[in-house]
Amino acid sequence: MADQPRIYLDNAASTPLDPEVLDAMMPYLKGGYGNPSSIHHAGREARAAIEKARKQMAAFLGVSPSEIYFTSGGTEADNFALRMSVEGLGVKKIITSPVEHHAVLNTALDLARQGKVVLELLPLDKQGRPEWEGLLDRDYKETTLVSLMHANNELGTVLPLKKLAPGLKEKNVLFHSDMVQTIGHFDINLTDLEVGMASASAHKYHGPKGAGFLFVHSDIPVTPILTGGAQERNLRAGTENVPGIIGMAKALELAYRDMQVHRKHIEGLKDRLRTSIMKQYPEAIINGDDSDKALYTILSVTFPEMANQEMLLFQLDILGLDVSGGSACTSGSHKGSHVLEAIQINQDHPTIRFSFSKYNTEEEVDRTMGLLKEAVGSRQ
Ligand code: PLP
Repeated sequence: MADQPRIYLDNAASTPLDPEVLDAMMPYLKGGYGNPSSIHHAGREARAAIEKARKQMAAFLGVSPSEIYFTSGGTEADNFALRMSVEGLGVKKIITSPVEHHAVLNTALDLARQGKVVLELLPLDKQGRPEWEGLLDRDYKETTLVSLMHANNELGTVLPLKKLAPGLKEKNVLFHSDMVQTIGHFDINLTDLEVGMASASAHKYHGPKGAGFLFVHSDIPVTPILTGGAQERNLRAGTENVPGIIGMAKALELAYRDMQVHRKHIEGLKDRLRTSIMKQYPEAIINGDDSDKALYTILSVTFPEMANQEMLLFQLDILGLDVSGGSACTSGSHKGSHVLEAIQINQDHPTIRFSFSKYNTEEEVDRTMGLLKEAVGSRQ
């Protein structure tokens, strides 16, 4: 057992870089060092490369290249959307949900704390889906931004954007969706979806860390939150992450090229693990949406109470399995997951989020069951 390779089932946190992505980035890591803002040859070469990447990405996402703003990742894209809406577009109210990623939630809380907006958190259904239908029946008196994630990163529950976004647009309500867990995993056409703004991050779909983007529909007048140089049409200052952008575009190309094959493969793995877990631990609970409408990369399971449960993740780590728990240690203080808390999952019982990628195998899933039994003990 000891010399078995480790198993990585934490792909919702970050995915391995695809070797083809690395190959595409290499020329810009080894050479291609020009600053895209420089007007000499090296600068023009870098500029041409990132504009080609922007064009390619826009084509996959069904948008215009001028609607894509490169950022340092999902967190910056979320901050960009929320802060720009308040500081540049006169938004006085933000409606969001208690299960958003902290990049949205803490930004909204910060803006509310500063007295710049009124904040409303929507109630949730049992699967952790914000109750969105009511948003379509309201009268909006003040300038409002609705920010709701496409798929939840702890539960995999998906929001039906196509049913929500067009209705909000009709009511002149700004709509932003954190699509960090879905762009690169579903065949998404942002124009068809009619979202106003969308955030994405390359490292969630086999691209590099530190590269992401915010899509902003051309109807929305963008204002900068990062000021400085004239990059990104004066709207996001800072020298562009050239290798990161090239890698992000390549990763998106690969994601769209092989999406159906990988989806089928990953669905099979998720099914296999879910079935084995439920057989072995019949009292276990699958959190969030457990239907085929959920995000196929995530399986969140709350296990029955057990001895030494606070050590479960450490034990699994020692045994060679990388997974996330339902809780995060922040600055040394052990806090529960705000998502599990919001849907009232008993956090005295251990929760594990398994998240898969195209690189995982059935053999790994079967070995995972063995490691779980070793760490948890068998219930049958
Ligand atoms: N939004 C969601 C839903 C995420 O899962 C993450 C990453 O965990 C982020 C935002 C932040 O993205 P990044 O790591 O690129 O800053």
